[in-house]
Amino acid sequence: MPEKNETPTAKVALVTGGSRGIGRACVLRLAREGYDVAFCYASQAEAAELVRKEAAGYGTRILPLQADVASADSVRAMVKQVGEELGPIDALVTSAGITRDNPLLLMTDEQWQQTLDVNLTGTYNVCRAVVFDMLKRRSGSIVTLSSVAGVHGTPTQSNYSSTKAGIIGFTKSMAKEVGKYGIRVNAVAPGFIETDMVADLDPDHMARMVDRVPLGRVGTAGEVAELVAFLASDKAAYITGSVVQIDGGIVV
Ligand code: NAP
Repeated sequence: MPEKNETPTAKVALVTGGSRGIGRACVLRLAREGYDVAFCYASQAEAAELVRKEAAGYGTRILPLQADVASADSVRAMVKQVGEELGPIDALVTSAGITRDNPLLLMTDEQWQQTLDVNLTGTYNVCRAVVFDMLKRRSGSIVTLSSVAGVHGTPTQSNYSSTKAGIIGFTKSMAKEVGKYGIRVNAVAPGFIETDMVADLDPDHMARMVDRVPLGRVGTAGEVAELVAFLASDKAAYITGSVVQIDGGIVV
């Protein structure tokens, strides 16, 4: 159950994939900003509970929910519950994502399809479920998570890169559709960010990647969350349809 509502007029945010990595950092950053925050996770309930506890320390209501973004039914149930428990969603961050890397010739149909289902269809499912209410209220802000892989392509990630490029097209299209109703939609395209998603990369490969980053290091989830919180806020009131790279200047 969410914590006691200490700020009943707080804005409400929904973050997908909030139990770990960039999504977790967004939950914490938005709670710090005064948002009531709902977030979903796929299966790691213990990680989600840790995030709930930490975010609740900022004094707003925090609502963790298990949901599979690849399932439209699951997403609809989640969005309904957020509305009932926290109120209408002002800001949406779609951070849930997976990688299933393999060279193209070795890629299985399952690896291809799973990645599309979670990353691209998942982003569509959540935006589709949330935007209707935003349209009715004529306000809202959506931040999607793309990747430099979607801008430049990455070897062994043809599935992942396709979803992240797709998210850019989806974000730009949606921004054009809903801008006149006061809704902004932007994408963030991170480079290498220190999370579980890159933890399994071969250290030599990682070192070679860092060599290509002019700032000479990987980024942190907190740095991405800072950008996401800015784009979600009124400080970015004239920014929509943008893809903002946050990648240490990576040279591809
Ligand atoms: P991460 O640490 O692996 O966390 C992934 C999150 O997504 C977890 O909360 C996970 O829940 C959730 N999730 C996975 N499948 C889901 C599903 N079907 N339904 C609902 N939630 C699901 O990932 P990350 O590194 O933070 O990445 C976050 C986003 O940023 C992703 O979209 C990723 O593509 C993008 N990105 C990351 C990097 C990077 O270098 N890390 C770079 C560019 C873009 P559980 O905890 O329950 O598994």
